[in-house]
Amino acid sequence: MHEASIALSLIEVAREVVRENGGGRVTALTVRIGQWSSVVPEALQAAFPASAQGTPLEGARLSIVRVAGVGQCPQHGPVTLELTRGLRCPLCDAPTPTLLAGDELELDELELAPFVPASELFRHMPKFTEEEFAAREAVMAESREIAQEREFRFDSSEDDLEEENP
Ligand SMILES: [Zn+2]
Repeated sequence: MHEASIALSLIEVAREVVRENGGGRVTALTVRIGQWSSVVPEALQAAFPASAQGTPLEGARLSIVRVAGVGQCPQHGPVTLELTRGLRCPLCDAPTPTLLAGDELELDELELAPFVPASELFRHMPKFTEEEFAAREAVMAESREIAQEREFRFDSSEDDLEEENP
């Protein structure tokens, strides 16, 4: 999937920024996507969580800002393009093949969580009683099982497809 590789390269850029800022975890990021770029925001949004797993961006909130296209009309100069009209001036219909804006894909903002040493985190963790701890473990084990089962179902349905359409 096109958007998955875009998510990975955005994450790579973000990790570089995080490194330059002394490390830590990213809690939110904003990406600007031009209306005329080939990126489908919904697909990027969907691909992001899995791509971010195991990186400092895991669990980060991804906001996408859509950037309208701006073309250069020979008569009217820079004009905001309308998606339904294509690359044409909305005022005089002249072709505006050059985009001044609207084909970008860029990292705009990055929100870093302040670095907290693990010892501090443990200090602020609620103290569980033994029963509470056991109950919590049981819930986590159950959700792991459900996740594994889902994965298994996904795999087996793929196999079925291959068998049906050799
Ligand atoms: Zn025009």
